Amino acid sequence: MSSITRSYRIRAYPNGAQRRLLDRWFGATRWLWNTALGIRSEAYRECGLSLTGNDLSRWLTQWKRTPGHEWLAEIPATVLTQCLRDQDAAFCNFFGGRAHYPRFKRKSTTGSVRFQDVGRDWTRGTLSLPKLESLKLAEELPEVTHPDLVTLSRDAAGRYHVSFSVEVPRTLLPITHRVVGVDVGLTHLATLSTGEKILNPKRYHARLRYLRQQQRCLARRQKGSRRRENQRLRVARVHARVRQERQCALHALTTRLVREFDLVFIEDLNVKGLARGLHARGIHDAAFSEVRRQLTYKSDWYGKILVEVDRWYASSKTCSECQYILDELRLDQRQWTCPKCGVRHDRDVNAARNILAEGLRQLAGRDDRYLRVDAGDACPEEILVQVLAEEARSGQRNRACLKQARFS
Ligand SMILES: [Zn+2]
Repeated sequence: MSSITRSYRIRAYPNGAQRRLLDRWFGATRWLWNTALGIRSEAYRECGLSLTGNDLSRWLTQWKRTPGHEWLAEIPATVLTQCLRDQDAAFCNFFGGRAHYPRFKRKSTTGSVRFQDVGRDWTRGTLSLPKLESLKLAEELPEVTHPDLVTLSRDAAGRYHVSFSVEVPRTLLPITHRVVGVDVGLTHLATLSTGEKILNPKRYHARLRYLRQQQRCLARRQKGSRRRENQRLRVARVHARVRQERQCALHALTTRLVREFDLVFIEDLNVKGLARGLHARGIHDAAFSEVRRQLTYKSDWYGKILVEVDRWYASSKTCSECQYILDELRLDQRQWTCPKCGVRHDRDVNAARNILAEGLRQLAGRDDRYLRVDAGDACPEEILVQVLAEEARSGQRNRACLKQARFS
């Protein structure tokens, strides 16, 4: 049985004393990051030296004994070491061409520290961190072996979370022999080719309106004032609330999709994003990338397949019954009737059906084997699904391969 990496993020409620300690640690890691980054950059500029985290770690030991820097010794060693290791990773990503040059960290309301070796009380169900003792969590720890690394962070709304990832065995979901096309939208969260519409979370639009109001209010507050700080917190909390509700709805949607269907077709964002208005694009794109991200890892966990369909035609304007293409379809036209075959279409359902049809067509056209299946069988879609699902399970073909062999 293969295993997958699963990440957890759990809300934490540190008490007053713990929060005060954490405040100092966030500051200390920021100081260490910036100091180390400065030394590294300068060593390279001046002498062409590439320092590693180990070199700096030796200096750190010295710093702790230097007058004026004794406070470093009060911070758990694992937090500081991990900070240097993270910087190593950042440099590694930079030299590997995967990231920009590491940046200095600014003073901000957010922060995070990372710990190693937290396994002591893990089996008893409590998370205890060095010098903080046990931490109150919103939910119980999952029943997994203790992680190597635990991150404790604070977001802009002042909430604390612990996060970690562990290897867990893969659990495959049963094959259902069903396929679906998904159209991620603005007015609805998503529309399925089965005709079902998944609504946005309750009061979603009202909250967005309220958020804009509060943001305007923040802009009017004087810089550095107490009222501005209060307003900033209020905005951050509304943001967090909106995000949390949408995230919850998206998770429910994507889990349902991989549970009920074997193959999920979604559109390629680039084509559609351009067709939309400037304001609408941000929100739509954010929802879309999140849906894609969740479907990607969930289909991998549960042995299902996600296919991104390249589209070069307007899916909303094409009739899913007879392929007739309308000349024009205004954005506010939610329904239309095909002049050729007379079928009445719902705009989004029609788009989802087109995504599904186009995806299946491209899949079948791509692979010789499916063409053979196509020729001999009355129900090619079902066979196609079965073959793909079984391959995904045995690990022969995963989403990455599918994407590589993309139907251009
Ligand atoms: Zn038609």
